[in-house]
Amino acid sequence: MPSTGGSRILEGYRPAFDATAVQRLRESGAILIGKTNLDEFGMGSTTEGSGFQVTANPWDVSRVPGGSSGGSAAAVSARQCVVSLGSDTGGSVRQPASFCGVVGVKPTYGRVSRFGLMAYASSLDAIGCFGSSVVDSAIILNAISGHDRLDATSSKHDVPDYVTELISTDNMGSKPLKGTRVGVIRETLGEGVEGEIISSIQAAASHLEELGAVVSEASLPSFSLGLPAYYILATSESSSNLSRYDGIRYGKQVPEDELASLYGNSRASGFGCEVKMRILMGTYALSAGYYDAYYKRAQQVRSLVQRSFKEALDENHILISPAAPSAAYMIGEKINDPLAMYAGDIMTVNVNLAGLPALVVPCGFVGGLSPLPGRLFRVGHVFERTLKGHR
Ligand code: GLN
Repeated sequence: MPSTGGSRILEGYRPAFDATAVQRLRESGAILIGKTNLDEFGMGSTTEGSGFQVTANPWDVSRVPGGSSGGSAAAVSARQCVVSLGSDTGGSVRQPASFCGVVGVKPTYGRVSRFGLMAYASSLDAIGCFGSSVVDSAIILNAISGHDRLDATSSKHDVPDYVTELISTDNMGSKPLKGTRVGVIRETLGEGVEGEIISSIQAAASHLEELGAVVSEASLPSFSLGLPAYYILATSESSSNLSRYDGIRYGKQVPEDELASLYGNSRASGFGCEVKMRILMGTYALSAGYYDAYYKRAQQVRSLVQRSFKEALDENHILISPAAPSAAYMIGEKINDPLAMYAGDIMTVNVNLAGLPALVVPCGFVGGLSPLPGRLFRVGHVFERTLKGHR
């Protein structure tokens, strides 16, 4: 099957092997029905940055599905498939899951092998999944997780059975929340976050409390530093990762007599504007003379973010926050304002800097996007334990 990562530079490219995650799905009996659209090489938050086409939000086709893995979110949301995969470097599974009203999981860094995943920023990239329910997502995570000798960063920790973990010991329903300490992250419910989103999160927190959880406020003091640090680290790593697209090894080639012109013209015609801008930003941040001011400082912020998550998670079993400060944008709304688009990633990027797992579940519908009746069912009620027949 062709694989382009949403980039014209890979037009016509057919990989010679499956990614480990895909191979494991096949081995588990999944039926693979297609590949989905995304922002070019995962760089974007709306899927408008695909080199091929714009994907619409199934709830309202004048809005974006989010991004970068917007096609995967839209496909599950529109019931074209039960589950799908995406990659999450700074929120690209979670933000589109929230924009499309589906479940999105970003596993712990290293939990799922990155072998065969097109690299964006290798220290942040994670393969995640979209599903209509938490159970479906757990089934997929069971299939794709685990050590892989082909990815040196893949974790050797045992993989728990995520489906069993969801159910109570008497098999009658979901695990009770009694005694679970839930921290609502204070910094994520402030200025710049839509009122309807804040009230949905507060309602969800009260609901968890009714179910027996102990809910309190938590704080991540370094929260707002995560976004600039993320964009420096992600663009720096991507400027290096994307050097492999040189017009020789993969995809599109503009033939030239001079090697340097062949590289230059193949890249100039193959990459889109956002990708070129990010290569320039990353190269700048890594260049001698600027390295200490940008890249090194961003790494220091990354350590701060990790430390503040650790402190908050010493106090709480789980932390909750919105997945995005607003509902799905209108198509075209942010396309000419990259900084505004980057700012929309504020809720998700810290988790990648810390390498932590995170799950998005619908907890309210905002911006006039309304739910299908009856789309939620009781966890543990009816579900399949295997992948057989899951398309
Ligand atoms: N929107 C973020 C970015 O453009 C995250 C993308 C991602 O997770 N692939 O970098």
